[in-house]
This record gives sequence, structure tokens and C-alpha cells, in this order.
Amino acid sequence: MTESDVKKPLPNGPQEGVNYPISVLYCGNCSLPVEYCEYHPEYEKCKVWLEKNLPEEFEKLVKLSGDGGDEDATEEKKRQKRGGKGIVKARKKEEVPKQVCVSRAPRGKKKSVTVVTGLSSFDIDLKVASKFFGTRFACGSSVTGDDEIVIQGDVKDDLFDVIPEKWPEIDEDFIEDLGDLKR
Ligand SMILES: [Zn+2]
Repeated sequence: MTESDVKKPLPNGPQEGVNYPISVLYCGNCSLPVEYCEYHPEYEKCKVWLEKNLPEEFEKLVKLSGDGGDEDATEEKKRQKRGGKGIVKARKKEEVPKQVCVSRAPRGKKKSVTVVTGLSSFDIDLKVASKFFGTRFACGSSVTGDDEIVIQGDVKDDLFDVIPEKWPEIDEDFIEDLGDLKR
């Protein structure tokens, strides 16, 4: 290999008689390579020329430059749908929100009972819980529904300390005070 071979400059631009794998297409309107048409002030005229003479290129370029507005809208819809489905899935995971509700209900003219609901959402055995409340508050306590315990006495405020103490997984924040119920 001689020095002159190394220094020989690379051919510049399309060479005659060479078959290039990528042919550059020139616009008949602005004479620029077609991918530069969109920067030309007469792009609209270019598009007309391209559509007529190079329909395939026209389609490619118009799509690239975002003129295919409908396409984008469809993509956006798809994304929204996917996002929506994701949210529904996440909600399904916790069908029953973990929440204990306590409220006071009148019992007779002067006395009140305390209603506790939602212990089941923490997988707590209601019978065990009812017995615990009865012992703890030295009063009657019974399971009165699917997920409801009625304690014979006004112990609502005490429950905010007693429940987290007995079941550490139930933070005070998980206990909702529903106030006074009217029966
Ligand atoms: Zn052009």
C-alpha cells in the first residue's frame, strides 16, 4: 500500500456509474432532497408535487411530520384505555377498603351503644373481637351483622386506643369516627 492510496480523498456526492443502496430523491418543486421539503417555505407546493410524483415518499413524509393527526389521536386513545384498565385492576386488588368504622347509637333514652364495623377487612374474627370488647369494657357485646359488633355502652372514644392496642395492624388512622347514629 502506498502513501498516495491512503491520502486519496473519499468520493464526494453521487458518483456516475455507482449503484447506491440508498437513492436520494429530490423534490421537483424545491429541488431539495425530499426529506428537507418540510423546511422549505413552499412545503405545501412540495407536498402537491410529491403526492403527484412520489406518492410513497409523500405518505412517509406526511406521516413523519405529524400531519397524520388522526393517527396520533388513536394512539392517545389507546394509551388512555390502557391506563384506565390499569386503574381498574389496582382497585380490584383491594375490593374491600381496610377501614374500621365506629359510631354511637342511642339505646333507650339516656344510654348509648357503640357500633363497630369493618373489623373483617383486617381478617379479624368478629366473635373473638366481640368477646374481647365485652371483657375489656365490662359490658355486653355481640356480633350483630356480617361485619358489625354492637357494644352495650358508650366506648367509642376508647376504641381509638383499644383497637390499635389489641390489633397493631389497625392503625388509629384506619378507624373512622362516624359520630352519632340515629336509630
Ligand atoms: Zn420540496
